[in-house]
Amino acid sequence: MAVSGIGKYDPNNIFAKILRGEIPCKKVIENDWALAFHDIAPKAPVHVLVIPKGPYVSFADFSQRASDKEIAGFFKTAGDVARMFDLDAPGYRMIGNVGPDSGQEVPHFHVHILGGRPLGPMLVE
Ligand code: AMP
Repeated sequence: MAVSGIGKYDPNNIFAKILRGEIPCKKVIENDWALAFHDIAPKAPVHVLVIPKGPYVSFADFSQRASDKEIAGFFKTAGDVARMFDLDAPGYRMIGNVGPDSGQEVPHFHVHILGGRPLGPMLVE
């Protein structure tokens, strides 16, 4: 079920549990600002999720409350992930679902890095 992109952070969401090491993930990279791991249900040959270390519900929340350092560190890491998979030249899609209309399922801010094949139209009408 889709979740709200704003409101109180739920420390028991699945990505919070991954950050605490309570459930496993297929880690791609981790630093002070972000953790990147493979999506459990990949929609493309490369489908990596990048999440900030801090407790933010969505981009709506992150873009308001996170510090400049957190924001810069997070987005630099997302770019590094794409480069790790040689996606800069062929291109890729970065998606951030925010709230019910987007279908956001996990209430911890994340971007999807999708690539490895032509991805088709941005939205299915
Ligand atoms: P969203 O709809 O933007 O909130 O995307 C949530 C994503 O998290 C989906 O693509 C799921 O496949 C993915 N996901 C859910 N649980 C896990 C997990 N334990 N490990 C990796 N990816 C997950």
